[in-house]
Amino acid sequence: MRENTSEVKHKIWLSSPHMSGFEEKYINDAFASNWVAPLGPNVDGFEKDLECYLKNQSFVATLSSGTAAIHLALKLLNVTHGDEVLCQTKTFVASVNPVIYVGATPVFIDSETETWNMCPVLLEKAILDRIKQGKKPKAIIAINLYGMPYNVSKIHAIANKHDIAIIEDSAEALGSHYKNRACGTFGDFSILSFNGNKIITTSTGGALVCRDNNTKKRAIFLATQAKDPGIDYNHSEVGYNYRMSNILAGIGRGQMQVLEDRVQSRRKNYDYYKHALKNIDDIEFLNEPEHFFSNRWLTTVLFKTKTMRDFILNALLEENIEARPSWKPMHQQALYKNYPNYLNGVSDSLFDRGLCLPSGSNLSTLELDRIIDIINKYFG
Ligand SMILES: *Cc1c(COP(=O)(O)O)cnc(C)c1O
Repeated sequence: MRENTSEVKHKIWLSSPHMSGFEEKYINDAFASNWVAPLGPNVDGFEKDLECYLKNQSFVATLSSGTAAIHLALKLLNVTHGDEVLCQTKTFVASVNPVIYVGATPVFIDSETETWNMCPVLLEKAILDRIKQGKKPKAIIAINLYGMPYNVSKIHAIANKHDIAIIEDSAEALGSHYKNRACGTFGDFSILSFNGNKIITTSTGGALVCRDNNTKKRAIFLATQAKDPGIDYNHSEVGYNYRMSNILAGIGRGQMQVLEDRVQSRRKNYDYYKHALKNIDDIEFLNEPEHFFSNRWLTTVLFKTKTMRDFILNALLEENIEARPSWKPMHQQALYKNYPNYLNGVSDSLFDRGLCLPSGSNLSTLELDRIIDIINKYFG
């Protein structure tokens, strides 16, 4: 055993994998039964686990990534060349890249301050403006950023009014809910990610949540090279190789057994930071509005100024602590800056002043205190 004093500079990760110990049993089962393939009992079991957890008519296809799930959702909504898709600008690039895969045009919508997610006022403005210009958007990609649900009631009321489908990007929000209903069940399609730093992980992986079983079957058809029924390998449309491995699904089954623990641990991190930093007026936390429940995937705070944020970010990095600015908005990316956008300055400000703090469910109090001490030192 090393002593605490010699551990002072050990690496603290932003959000590292946290195994339960149950995963290996499912992996061993896969080896024992030789289901080393992109199908098998773990894939079926993991899908069932997710369906039972999400409830509300959820039909889940587990896939190779969350990005693949967004791609399939767009295909299943028949989004194609020349179509427009409205997308929250404040997100990780994976939310938007699949819009390009299908040859469509992303149109970026800024955030509201209450949730940091898609601003309903700008959404409606954008829809009316696109229609006026002769092009009704084909879909909306709404994000539950950092685990905070988007304003489901308002966003869906607008989408329903204009009859536009919603893809709910819940990659960061498994375990969150809105009005007691699980995130991942609100979209016409919803997507989940099990990448290495998400609240539960299969190392890499994702899922598409469909609203009926026929759509799930169609998703699996597209995810397995779109092979027509029969033995002679007929293909009448383009498919993909997007299914999840039965080994990785075994990790998922083990992780599902501790999902609620992981949510509680991440929420405790948020509470711990908030309590410890409560006397610093220059730091702001994102509160849960009434009826919103966040899994607090990442505790992300706002500093009064960018200078302050940059100073703390660098101080943490120097101490071998992984921290990050909050996601750079898509409309600021070289890749996406020339696409249409509807902005209000909120996502720019969140990017300048926001800092993601280490938030793993396996952080110790000692580690949290090390981070807090560095921040407190700056503010005297
Ligand atoms: C992680 C993430 C994705 C992509 O998921 P992958 O499984 O990494 O492909 C999509 N959207 C958001 C908001 C994410 O954080």
